Amino acid sequence: MEGRFQLKTELAVIGAGPAGLCAAIEAAKNGVDVTIIDENKKPGGQLFKQIHRFFGSEEHLAGTRGFEIGNMLLEDAKKYGVKVLLDSVAWGLFPDLTIGISTDKKVSILKTEKVVVATGAIENSLSFPGWTLPNIMGAGAAQTMININRVLPGKKVITLGSGNVGLIVSYQLIQAGAGVVAVVEALDHIGGYMVHAAKIARMGVKILTNHTITKAMGDKFLEKVEIAKIDSNFNVVKGSEETIKVDLVCIAVGLRPLSELCWMAGMRFEYFSELGGFIPVHDENMQSNIEGIYVAGDVAGIEEASTAMEEGKLAGIAASQALGKLRMGNQEASSILNEARERLRTLRLGPFGEYRYQAKEKIISKYYN
Ligand SMILES: Cc1cc2nc3c(=O)[nH]c(=O)nc-3n(C[C@H](O)[C@H](O)[C@H](O)COP(=O)(O)OP(=O)(O)OC[C@H]3O[C@@H](n4cnc5c(N)ncnc54)[C@H](O)[C@@H]3O)c2cc1C
Repeated sequence: MEGRFQLKTELAVIGAGPAGLCAAIEAAKNGVDVTIIDENKKPGGQLFKQIHRFFGSEEHLAGTRGFEIGNMLLEDAKKYGVKVLLDSVAWGLFPDLTIGISTDKKVSILKTEKVVVATGAIENSLSFPGWTLPNIMGAGAAQTMININRVLPGKKVITLGSGNVGLIVSYQLIQAGAGVVAVVEALDHIGGYMVHAAKIARMGVKILTNHTITKAMGDKFLEKVEIAKIDSNFNVVKGSEETIKVDLVCIAVGLRPLSELCWMAGMRFEYFSELGGFIPVHDENMQSNIEGIYVAGDVAGIEEASTAMEEGKLAGIAASQALGKLRMGNQEASSILNEARERLRTLRLGPFGEYRYQAKEKIISKYYN
């Protein structure tokens, strides 16, 4: 490392995805000096990979493509004067509210008064014999390759996992020129929205529930996989094995919060499988158990970009209020915070959101009521 610098800001936001950008924009609108840090070359987090139209309600930009939402947020961040540190990894978050950052070969220490951690999620993996062969990768990695790097990682694909990520990435691989042979799902039902499943089924993709990949084979690279039927105890049904030639396996078996910085700062955690595993305990304004450190988006429980944006807004407004910088009275602030919480509640209605809403409510009632 070549140098060490001491930087200062009023609010540091780690992660420039939809949650982080919304937190930064809300605080900057109130005149807070905000610095947002992201390890990528471009801000936007997952949004620039998402070429499909978002689902949900119009109020939450349903029908707009992910990257268009990303562009809107970037324009606002620029308009309100958010400072953006790109190509910068936050490697340490300390209880005295300092952040260790590496940019290129320089290390800097950012001293801040409030922090929003919005680092997003990481993909889960699944091991089976042969799973370390090249061309077996997370569906998110394949999505980054096709939609950001414009590289087609394989031409004959099998996807493991039928949640929305597995279904959408399968569709986008077809759009990018690959053939998707099948989506294999261990459960007895499709995990994601039927609209996404129907779209790929119409294109000839088999969706095989009660199935799994039992092994991957190949000399130097992936050449074929063996799939098999499984029973309700997840045991392979003997005699059902089938070998399929493929050159790409996409694993889409869920995401979990990317929360190392939260652990490092000493936050309290609770386990909620419906939110992706251990999540940092937070109050209704997204403040963690450490005063001055807020969490927002997938790091605070795996959901969607629309909920990430609302949580980011809540954290940004609450942090501005705690800094004494809100350009509005307390009454107006509480009504804006209440409206954001109400939008979150509405977003969490429906088959996928309800159990997440219950989990979030459980945390708040356990620790804060
Ligand atoms: C295939 C797919 C389709 C989806 N479709 C939809 C949809 O239609 N509608 C919808 O609402 N949602 C959708 N989502 C979900 C949505 O993308 C995420 O919920 C949302 O992006 C979460 O936002 P976030 O800001 O919490 O995290 P992210 O968007 O993941 O952003 C986190 C950012 O933090 C950065 N970061 C992490 N750690 C560090 C560090 N230590 N230092 C510096 N930077 C760091 C990351 O590089 C990243 O840029 C989809 C997701 C996938 C994978």
